[in-house]
Amino acid sequence: MDCCRSVNPFAVCSGPLKALGYAMLLLVAAIAALSYYAVVIVSWGPKLLPANAGRNSVLAFAVVAVSHLLLALIIWSYCMVVFSDPGAVPENWRPMLEEDSLGTASPTALSGYIIPESRDLPSSTSEDLERRQTMRFCTRCQNGKPPRCHHCSVCDRCVLKMDHHCVWVVNCVGARNYKFFLLFLVYTFLETVLDTLALLPHFIGFFGDARKHSGSPSNLAITFLAFVLNLAFSLSLLCFLCMHASLVLSNTTSIEIYEKKKAVAWKYDLGKKKNFEQVFGTNKLLWFLPLYTAADQENIPALQGLDFPTRSDVEV
Ligand SMILES: [Zn+2]
Ligand SMILES: [Zn+2]
Repeated sequence: MDCCRSVNPFAVCSGPLKALGYAMLLLVAAIAALSYYAVVIVSWGPKLLPANAGRNSVLAFAVVAVSHLLLALIIWSYCMVVFSDPGAVPENWRPMLEEDSLGTASPTALSGYIIPESRDLPSSTSEDLERRQTMRFCTRCQNGKPPRCHHCSVCDRCVLKMDHHCVWVVNCVGARNYKFFLLFLVYTFLETVLDTLALLPHFIGFFGDARKHSGSPSNLAITFLAFVLNLAFSLSLLCFLCMHASLVLSNTTSIEIYEKKKAVAWKYDLGKKKNFEQVFGTNKLLWFLPLYTAADQENIPALQGLDFPTRSDVEV
């Protein structure tokens, strides 16, 4: 992901990767339509009709209602991931130094990215000095790189607190849309589990006596296929969700996993609750929706993506 590599396979493949992303979109839409048809139209929806009213009506209503609710949350979260900016670096960005807030910034520091000699900075704190010395620069964007920011070769720009470029959403996942991405994963997982359970009796019936099959052969085939696809997706999503739950609770991005392994103590780990709030915000009611309060957006620096509290800030 580092922009300084001379040959980057992701840069070479950025066009095909984008095309693959749009193909994935069509694939996801096709699978969602197939599952909806199998669960709602073929299997459970007809049980709600007055002619078929029976003891399964309540269960059928629950399946259809929850399925629609999850579908609405999936589409909402998905649109938020796709259309939200994951976070761009402001033009001429430079790190905020303590001496700036004291009004003692040197002209060199204000002008940009040249790291001044320490002897020129009598008023600098050691933390400021460390920030200057560790400041990174993206040669592609010709701009400074805030901490945890990485250059995405597919999007061809730097992304704040970049987690990864996701071909499923044709966008980067970063500081400002990571929560939406996680909610999309959670609700998709729940929908696939619901579909799998709702189709299980039909799947078992598929292997039963052929004379007892009430549906058409094409509907039976669609139900069978939808069950297999939903089962496969739910298992894959479960693994992916477990990995991201561990990343959220340790305040790590997918890109930082290797870096964290080398560190004795991960500097961004503020404790599980605070780590969670760095992504989901502090308002419990909005933890389950792809939204933030204005106060959280203003008060949680990690959501702006330019500066991040560290263990030392919390321990002070
Ligand atoms: Zn860049
Ligand atoms: Zn990207």
